[in-house]
Amino acid sequence: MLNTIRLLVQCQNKQYVLEQIRCASQVLPQLSAEKYNVKRKDFATVQSSDVNFFKTILGNERVLTDDNDVTPFNIDWIKNCRGQSKVVLKPKSTQEVSQILSYCNEKKLAVCPQGGNTGLVGGSVPVFDEVVLNLMLMNNIVSLDEISGALICEAGCVLENVDNYVRERNLIMPLDLGAKGTCQVGGNVSTNAGGLRLLRYGNLHGSILGVEAVKADGIIIDCLKTLKKDNTGYHLKHLFIGSEGTLGVVTKVAIHCPVLPKAVTVGFFGVENFENILQLYKSAKSSLGEILSAFEMADRDAISSTVKNLNLPNPISDYPFYVLVETHGSDEGHDGEKLNRFLSKEMESGLILDGTVTSEPGKMQTIWNLRENIAGAGLRHGYVFKYDVSLPQKHYYELVPKIKQRLGDKAIVVCGYGHIGDGNIHINVTVPEYTREVAGLLEPYVFEEVSALQGSISAEHGVGFRKPHYIHYSKDRSALQLMHQLKTLMDPNGILNPYKVLPEEC
Ligand SMILES: Cc1cc2nc3c(=O)[nH]c(=O)nc-3n(C[C@H](O)[C@H](O)[C@H](O)COP(=O)(O)OP(=O)(O)OC[C@H]3O[C@@H](n4cnc5c(N)ncnc54)[C@H](O)[C@@H]3O)c2cc1C
Repeated sequence: MLNTIRLLVQCQNKQYVLEQIRCASQVLPQLSAEKYNVKRKDFATVQSSDVNFFKTILGNERVLTDDNDVTPFNIDWIKNCRGQSKVVLKPKSTQEVSQILSYCNEKKLAVCPQGGNTGLVGGSVPVFDEVVLNLMLMNNIVSLDEISGALICEAGCVLENVDNYVRERNLIMPLDLGAKGTCQVGGNVSTNAGGLRLLRYGNLHGSILGVEAVKADGIIIDCLKTLKKDNTGYHLKHLFIGSEGTLGVVTKVAIHCPVLPKAVTVGFFGVENFENILQLYKSAKSSLGEILSAFEMADRDAISSTVKNLNLPNPISDYPFYVLVETHGSDEGHDGEKLNRFLSKEMESGLILDGTVTSEPGKMQTIWNLRENIAGAGLRHGYVFKYDVSLPQKHYYELVPKIKQRLGDKAIVVCGYGHIGDGNIHINVTVPEYTREVAGLLEPYVFEEVSALQGSISAEHGVGFRKPHYIHYSKDRSALQLMHQLKTLMDPNGILNPYKVLPEEC
């Protein structure tokens, strides 16, 4: 166990979690079906004749059936969920995905689409013996129009690799997240991933220009346009953005890449209380205007446990709250001056207690490392209950002290951090190991509180396997019924990612 934790921590220290699949394989979490008492649906079971068929399409090497090879694909990043799949398929083309799905649909074999397996709600791994369809080998960049910024890539491209590719051509990907070294663009689209710069570049419903996806019956839906404007009928691409592999398998993505900012500056500030963070956010919007690209917060427990667990440096001293402000602009002198002026002004006003501003890449990375590694640092304690909720900004931090009080010494750390500009807070509760007692204290309590504050129980991670029975806290009955109707229309046999997103009844 310790070895695994050490490995996981090393992975996250490198930030990109590249080894997470290998790490995850070393300790076996309890089977999801047992842990959450789920009943298997009436799907067929994979037979040797099915495996032989898959091999005729993919060849022997891209059909994994050996237990040791398959196990890592059954376990999610946070080691909360474990499925029981016996076969992993690695297609290399849309045509292969189409053939596989058409066959599985006919045979009533359930399928779990999988990208980088960094999802945090258990959506990316099977629950029972679903066939895992991993897109990692569909990793080609198809085209880039350097004038419009329209990029087309296959769904299995790792986000960071695509970002590096477009950066060399003076563009950037419009999204960035701590898992960028492992997560795939198809996974990002399927989860409608938010991330660190949503404040500036908006969400994927705005940036995605087109999608190619394969329906459960194998039919390829080609909505792979690169146009900014296309009002010809229903906007079908949006059905695949955020549907978490339940409506189709995304095979190609067209995405708008903004221009690489010439000047990037990062500030890291210590703040006395949460009220001051809100005031600071208001001031940053007006002082920094169009160059503001990120406004992130973390509380003392989030930063101090990350510093301690991962041995990372904190560039300023110990404060109750921290704020990370980033600017993307076109003039380093001008932008740095603006951020420094903001720092001086707000140190004078008392909103900032201490801070540092830098444009040096190494120093900026040190600050971002601290922020991006909070998500994984808690694993060092054993198990992490993770909540990713949206709340009106004035209520943003209210839940953290309430949860602390509710759990008392049952939790090692309860911390809050997140994208304050988007009203999205992540709350991590770390405990030595998963227990039903702590789970029962947290759920549905957290979701009830969020609902009472008019929030969303999932801001960006999705619903996955962990939250379908809580979705009613954020979606009303008529909306859920329409979701069920859409699912039935697009996947009548329900083979795509069963047990995920949709509640059994609504
Ligand atoms: C350290 C860390 C930081 C993170 N930070 C953020 C963050 O800031 N913002 C954020 O939104 N998320 C964040 N996440 C969550 C996760 O990285 C995102 O949800 C990411 O978009 C998942 O991509 P993936 O390729 O790993 O998908 P997976 O985890 O493999 O899959 C996620 C879901 O999408 C489906 N899926 C995957 N690929 C396809 C496809 N091609 N077609 C159809 N369905 C598919 C799966 O079935 C599953 O339901 C973070 C995770 C980690 C570990």
